Amino acid sequence: MHRKISDRLFERACRVIPGGVNSPVRSGRSVGVRPFFVKEAKGCRIRDEDGNVYIDYVCSWGPLIAGHAPVQVVEAVMKAAAGGTSYGIPSRLEVELAEQVAALVPSMEMIRMVNSGTEAVMSAVRLARGFTGRNKVIKFNGCYHGHSDCLLVASGSGLATFGIPGSPGVPEELVQHTMSLRYNDLDVVEEAMEHMGGDVAAIVLEPVAGNMGVVPPRQGYLEGLRRICDRYGALLIFDEVITGFRVALGGAQERYGVKPDLTCLGKIIGGGLPVGAYGGRRDVMQRVAPEGDIYQAGTLSGNPIAMAAGLAMLDIVRRDGVYEELEEKASHLAAGLGRAAEEAGVPMTLNRVGSMGCGFFSRHPVTDFETAAQSDTRAYAVFFREMMERGVYLAPSQFEAFFVSLAHEKEDLDATVEAAGEAFRATA
Ligand code: PLP
Repeated sequence: MHRKISDRLFERACRVIPGGVNSPVRSGRSVGVRPFFVKEAKGCRIRDEDGNVYIDYVCSWGPLIAGHAPVQVVEAVMKAAAGGTSYGIPSRLEVELAEQVAALVPSMEMIRMVNSGTEAVMSAVRLARGFTGRNKVIKFNGCYHGHSDCLLVASGSGLATFGIPGSPGVPEELVQHTMSLRYNDLDVVEEAMEHMGGDVAAIVLEPVAGNMGVVPPRQGYLEGLRRICDRYGALLIFDEVITGFRVALGGAQERYGVKPDLTCLGKIIGGGLPVGAYGGRRDVMQRVAPEGDIYQAGTLSGNPIAMAAGLAMLDIVRRDGVYEELEEKASHLAAGLGRAAEEAGVPMTLNRVGSMGCGFFSRHPVTDFETAAQSDTRAYAVFFREMMERGVYLAPSQFEAFFVSLAHEKEDLDATVEAAGEAFRATA
């Protein structure tokens, strides 16, 4: 595998970009590789600057449900761009996307577009605090909600990858109102709420955790959180930045039948462009400025190109049979990976919800961050490198998900399983 051009680009990048990457999770440090640089991507494949081709299971960290560069999205982007790249004035596409999201995710009675998942969750938390007049927020170990100060506590994702508990630059005072508890454990939430329930503005979580690897909610967990929030007058915020339009058309809330007060969406509704959104109960959202008094703004929010891409993306995922197809493909892949690991004698716990999944190098069930953290990250690193050598790109961390898209065909999945068989044998 030639790496000359990527390596040179990385050296140049390191001189002008911290760590050579614009987001830490792109660094291959924890799995012992340098990042490669993408030249182009189409369907489920990416080609790097050196001409190496990989079957991609990162899918831009989730949003590419239809794979890279689907024709409908590309055409929509080109058409929108020709009409102007940004107005800072309302445009029709914003209304249309908000209407469509509200129709598909009925708990989102009103929606505000922002530019990233970080912004969406940060804004939802501010709104919850303003609405309830309370400061405290409960989150869960290993759930990542972007890099805003008050949520950068026991986060998963890049922080878990690099073993970082929090971040310098986040003052104590800004996290003193954040409590991070064990995921999937209702008792610890009950206990915390008994002590301080009257001060809690919101419980925020990934309804299917996707930033500690993939961890589904235990049966009754989401319903339990709903009940607790109702009892104490706290808002329930689902961060569906990964799960929205991924685990069902209506997100995890549809799949598990639990209605949050506020929902955060991200990358998917931009069809891969920089978008986020938060929304929910009308009485809560009416407090957002200028209708209400809780401030949140954005020059590029509702950007016409991103809105056009999002609308094209929703057209794709709304088609009949999309989620059945994703389920079938992902279960085919997961079954193959499970078989390959077993044949190679590699202990593996496979968690999967729809088209997102994770193979933990562990003999034990993984139900929260504490059990995820017991995985053999060194074995994962070897497996990752062996897969890359065989033309399969996985997330460069044990604590991230793999994503299957509509563009992954059966031959791609079978080729992946075959590569995994060899990679597992090299790992064992
Ligand atoms: N919430 C979740 C669940 C995420 O997975 C992410 C990013 O991966 C975010 C929030 C932050 O989104 P962004 O990276 O767009 O700021």
